[in-house]
Amino acid sequence: MRVAVVGAGWAGLAAAVRATQAGHQVTVFETAGMPGGRARSDDDSDAATDNGQHILLGGYARTLALMRDVGVDVDQALRRVPLSLTYADGAGFALPPSGPRLLAAARALLGARGFGLGDKLSAVAMSLGWQWRRFHCPPSLTVDELLRHAPTSRVKRRLIEPLCVAALNTPSAEASAEVFLAVMRDSLFGAREASDLLVPQRPLAHLLPLPALAWLRAHGATVRLRTRVDQLAQVENRWRVASSGGDPGSRESDDLFDQVILAASAAEAARLTRTLAPGWSATTAALSHEPIVTIALNAPARPWPAAMLALESDDTGAPAQFAFKLGPQAGGHDRVTLVVSAAGRWLARGSDVVAAAAIAQYRHAFHIRDDEEIRLDSVRADKRATFRCTAGVARPPRDILPGLQAAADFVAGPYPATLETAVRAGEAAALALVR
Ligand SMILES: Cc1cc2nc3c(=O)[nH]c(=O)nc-3n(C[C@H](O)[C@H](O)[C@H](O)COP(=O)(O)OP(=O)(O)OC[C@H]3O[C@@H](n4cnc5c(N)ncnc54)[C@H](O)[C@@H]3O)c2cc1C
Repeated sequence: MRVAVVGAGWAGLAAAVRATQAGHQVTVFETAGMPGGRARSDDDSDAATDNGQHILLGGYARTLALMRDVGVDVDQALRRVPLSLTYADGAGFALPPSGPRLLAAARALLGARGFGLGDKLSAVAMSLGWQWRRFHCPPSLTVDELLRHAPTSRVKRRLIEPLCVAALNTPSAEASAEVFLAVMRDSLFGAREASDLLVPQRPLAHLLPLPALAWLRAHGATVRLRTRVDQLAQVENRWRVASSGGDPGSRESDDLFDQVILAASAAEAARLTRTLAPGWSATTAALSHEPIVTIALNAPARPWPAAMLALESDDTGAPAQFAFKLGPQAGGHDRVTLVVSAAGRWLARGSDVVAAAAIAQYRHAFHIRDDEEIRLDSVRADKRATFRCTAGVARPPRDILPGLQAAADFVAGPYPATLETAVRAGEAAALALVR
């Protein structure tokens, strides 16, 4: 079959690789000059800047398998560290590297530093309650409602809220408890290695997008970068894909395909299906989105108790939830990124305000004096970083029309918008072609 894949984000690349492996003749269309979508790098160099700090989990089984299949040395590209939620002052918990998971999680919570006995017991009781209910709850429940009678306010503010915002990019007052529990079940309380944090050691482009592109070209697929799909139309049993851009001389084209996998952003997927499938398009267009801001700094070196540190955040003076040390710099400085997830309310005040507040927050957390310089290297705000994973949110299904499927992180499923969700969606669409 001739298969068109619209979009070369991680979902589109997964769909294209698996469809090519299944023997289909695949053409990938991508508006941008670089593949990778929201998890892309600015260029193909080893010093490229990414669209935002990304973290993978040991449980991203499909993503890791895909990376290996296109020739990536996963152990070199990602640094594996046991899950921990640690603050700059050393408070927090770290999962022990071995032992049965449920016991390990209980040990971690009971051994958490900076929490009183009442906090710890309430956290263990809460997790036992989740397990008792097999990590299920009504879809309409928010994370705040799930926690209403459970842990102490300290556990909620310093343990649960940071995990919720990191995983769902949605404030706990609105976040879906059902999706949050699914993430907890498969990570913190999941199989031994599923909870490990996998920290990229190279720009994102080298983790999947560029190796996948090279693999596709070597296996006979066509990849058309800088080529936007303008319109999709049904012509008898086939699909006409009208596109523009690309190499000079092939600026506009109309190609016929047997099947189309729509792996574009929600806005573009909704536009391309508006007249073809109005219901699907309306559900997709109705998704709202939440920004993530990534702030790169050069700051005086301080001891780091873990690779990734949680920061005490609030709505007034402290926007960032996590800090990552990327490496030492000359002159006793560290290269650091600060991440502000669920950044909608903060970004409304302007990215300069967010950056200044995050730097002040970092100074406070690491006891950096006013006369010590922190240099701001860059501020990147992705306004539509992920869809808002709110309680009861309606996500569109994979099947749009016969021969037209969606593959993206927002398609209906049990997990929030992540790289693994995108890859799974792409693989599911490719598998359905075969059927
Ligand atoms: C700042 C930030 C931090 C994040 N952190 C994490 C993290 O730590 N861990 C994690 O797992 N996830 C994280 N995510 C989420 C993750 O990046 C996304 O879930 C994932 O990349 C989505 O992939 P996708 O293929 O579904 O969509 P996209 O990446 O949006 O890909 C869609 C592609 O389609 C192309 N396109 C759109 N319209 C057209 C058209 N008409 N014709 C041709 N091409 C088109 C676009 O250019 C794009 O390349 C983060 C996201 C952001 C923005």
